[in-house]
Amino acid sequence: MKKIIALLLTLTMLMTVCVTGSADGQNENTYGAYKHVFIIGIDGAGTFFEKDYMTEFHRIFDNGTVKYGARTETKTDSGPNWTSILTGVSYFKHGAENGVVSGTQERVFKKYPSIFSVVHDAMPDAELASIVNWGAVNIGIVEDEIGVTEISIGPDDATVEAIVNYFNEGHSPALFFTQLDEVDAAGHGFGSSSAEYEKAMKEADERIGIIYDCLEENGLLEDGLFIVTADHGHKETGGHGRFSKLESYSTIAVAGKTVVSGGSMDNDVKLRDIAAISLYALGVEPTEWSFTARVPGNLFKDVSGQARPYYRDITDFICGGIMWIYTNLGHPLDEFF
Ligand SMILES: [Zn+2]
Repeated sequence: MKKIIALLLTLTMLMTVCVTGSADGQNENTYGAYKHVFIIGIDGAGTFFEKDYMTEFHRIFDNGTVKYGARTETKTDSGPNWTSILTGVSYFKHGAENGVVSGTQERVFKKYPSIFSVVHDAMPDAELASIVNWGAVNIGIVEDEIGVTEISIGPDDATVEAIVNYFNEGHSPALFFTQLDEVDAAGHGFGSSSAEYEKAMKEADERIGIIYDCLEENGLLEDGLFIVTADHGHKETGGHGRFSKLESYSTIAVAGKTVVSGGSMDNDVKLRDIAAISLYALGVEPTEWSFTARVPGNLFKDVSGQARPYYRDITDFICGGIMWIYTNLGHPLDEFF
């Protein structure tokens, strides 16, 4: 009998050690491991972050994970894509054209809450901030009634100055978003193959570095997830809205303590997945049934890729698939419609 008791005691001790061990291991788990998520949006930059001249970007993300083939929504404009990035819902559901976003938030968010709203519901005391150049984001995407610090100010230097001031004042937001606009302006004015566009990208690169260093100096990166992205790219001759590769592939770059070093994510990565990545890192569940963002694989060390719940959005599944084929066939019908 004593032997059995001794054996049971030993087993109990072993189990305790195992459980304690795994509990310690949870500190390495990504879900809820971050106190802050910072999303830096460079409007119109597409996949041009890849260029060697983006030295600040590469400095920050050399030890992070970068996807240069992240798919935009099927309309490659700012309204549709910033809305999907900040809701996790497809353009087919929210229908937020530029005009809708810059006009009113009634149509979109009565139905599809932004991740600001989802985080606010889960953590009512959390600070939230959206400091943007394109003010439409703060009109039509970020809800006004949930206490988000909303600042709309340009040009980009002024946006960055407002951001630096905000963080140097000691703010510590759970979720932060910014959108810088001047790369898009250079794309429209001169095309993505122009020297002007390259100059604007280099300036955006410096601004990314300034924001990153400011966060680091304020101690916010230790438990912070730092994300850089773009809503769409630009044709060589300028402009966007269609389905060419330059317009409809973009970038998601992620740096943080549980991010795979030198990773590149799995396939089927969409810009709207930033919504899933952000909520997951903060330990918040999405609440909208139409949410079709997912955490990609080979992004976080401890998370294998989630399946995209396409059954929630069959239109996106079918039309997104057709557009993917169309893009990769070389968009043969662009001349005709
Ligand atoms: Zn544009």
